Amino acid sequence: MIDFSQFDSLFAMTMYFNCEAICRQTIIESRWGVGENQDVVCPYCGKHHCATRKDGRFRCNHCKRNFSFKVGTIFEDTNLSLVKWFMAMYLISSHKKGISSCQLGRDIRVTQATAWYMLQKIRLLYGQNDSESFDGIVECDEVYIGGKEKWKHKSMRTPHTQGRSTKTKTPVFGMMERSFIINDKGEEEPMSYVHAFVVGNTNKDTLQPIIGQFVVEGSTVITDELNAYNGLCKMGYSHEVVNHGSEEYARGGIFTNSIEGFWSHFRRMITGCYHNVSDEHLQSYIDESVYRWNTRKMSESERFTHMFAKSIGLVRKWSEIRVGLMAA
Ligand SMILES: [Zn+2]
Repeated sequence: MIDFSQFDSLFAMTMYFNCEAICRQTIIESRWGVGENQDVVCPYCGKHHCATRKDGRFRCNHCKRNFSFKVGTIFEDTNLSLVKWFMAMYLISSHKKGISSCQLGRDIRVTQATAWYMLQKIRLLYGQNDSESFDGIVECDEVYIGGKEKWKHKSMRTPHTQGRSTKTKTPVFGMMERSFIINDKGEEEPMSYVHAFVVGNTNKDTLQPIIGQFVVEGSTVITDELNAYNGLCKMGYSHEVVNHGSEEYARGGIFTNSIEGFWSHFRRMITGCYHNVSDEHLQSYIDESVYRWNTRKMSESERFTHMFAKSIGLVRKWSEIRVGLMAA
């Protein structure tokens, strides 16, 4: 198995993944193991020990289907060069503020339309199953996204829509776990992880099940004074409320400033790189921003490893990434 920690720069990565055969071999070995220990699993029925055909494809003895190494990865359905896919994954994972399709197209020499397609495919990976539960201290907060009003002519704007309104803006709900990582010097360093979702509204019936799904019972949940959060104690949380209305923004450790830092990170990514986002794609941009936030203390090679793992359908928890790079 190749050591992914060597890919600490675009240069190191492209020197290694310089032909289709190497990319192919890496995908096969990462999915199914190396040499005698290789066990090809059928992507259709899950049966182990599929046979290798002479043409390089595989055959399942159980469901009798033939398949290529790409089936079940994001590279399925495309004939684009894997070398370019690998470069794209590296560039996308290392640009902390996002990369536009124009820029990506120029960097790897594909058309802007192709680059857009690759970005969309990769963006879908961000949302995949990083459903790690949060515990300890968790800040919860809602924001209303939609600068669309800004671009409209005054006469076309919806009246009385400043601030919280779902008439023109889309509510987004976020949770942030205050955590820490052990840095290279062996010291604890503050870190935080986020989950965020587009929601239909910010009612109790919408928000509390999401908290119930992602936050472990017994945790301390910090929110603002929105009524939707009433009753969190009954769900087994220690509930602390920050009263923004009375300009009380921080009381000891009781504040929601950390998650507000995430919201401004998200807004900067949208305004700086993607300009305007339709409601239809909002969740995928949120997923990208969450991904960048949650991986911000990883090295280039760790982030690339994580993205590569996702591209072939392997999902690792954030906390496991630092422990073993692609270790089986
Ligand atoms: Zn099968």
